[in-house]
Amino acid sequence: MSGKLTVTIVILIVLFISLSYIYVINNPIEISIQANIGSTETSITSSSTTTTSSSTTTTIQLTTTSSSTTTTIPTTTTSSTTTSTTTTIPRTTTTIEVLEKEDSVAFNSDNSENIKIYEGEFISFDGFEGENQFNLDTLVANLPLELRKSVENNVIFVNGCHSYAATILGRCPFGVWDSAGTFADGSTNSNWKLSVWVSNKAFANNRAYNTLLHETSHALSYLTRNCVNSEGENQRKKAQEFFGSEELFADALVLYYGGDYLYYRDDLILQVSEREYLENYASLCIKD
Ligand SMILES: [Zn+2]
Repeated sequence: MSGKLTVTIVILIVLFISLSYIYVINNPIEISIQANIGSTETSITSSSTTTTSSSTTTTIQLTTTSSSTTTTIPTTTTSSTTTSTTTTIPRTTTTIEVLEKEDSVAFNSDNSENIKIYEGEFISFDGFEGENQFNLDTLVANLPLELRKSVENNVIFVNGCHSYAATILGRCPFGVWDSAGTFADGSTNSNWKLSVWVSNKAFANNRAYNTLLHETSHALSYLTRNCVNSEGENQRKKAQEFFGSEELFADALVLYYGGDYLYYRDDLILQVSEREYLENYASLCIKD
């Protein structure tokens, strides 16, 4: 009976992923995908009495957000419960954020200079392109000092078309922030944990610096995720609430660090109160 239930759940999940995928493919304009996969908590219970059997509680939650639509399918299977020992496997969360602004790609031919070819370890990364790796390095070097200092010891900057993001999206994104190091098949813990990706497509569309600034803002946000004030309040969570979301927080950081191209925020001007908020955030959460 539980076998049948499991099969039903698997079919529901596959159906849901298929529908989300089709939705993403058909969405023509700007797309942001946050895929939280594998929020799994398993409690394994064994019994000390002879009459009761062991019990397992499995909760699978899959959340996909495309643009402003959120769909959540929680499924819960519960059988008889006898508690003596409980093992909890900590949740694993993969967050991939994909930026796609325009479909048109202009291939500029300006190859009169000598082109240096990148030959480092990024070559083995899923989706690495490399033609603009040195250009990207130059853009990173030109990031505002405070922003660059806050991420440069932890984050790597890869010129490429992130494979898993491209698979979800159905085409190459401009930029990706990948905290988990996600392989082409969606599994994590690769060598490109904490990576910012900027694709050749972003360079071809003159969006490389804007994309870099936005994704690096996510990196700053992520790296300060444990920052608390004297009251013990998590500053990143408060900032996401203050600006409205992680995306709007990132766009506000873009403005704060001198950018002028926004992906989610409507207002191109940072209000005085918002600037002060970010000043306080930076002084509290960015360590020299
Ligand atoms: Zn973003």
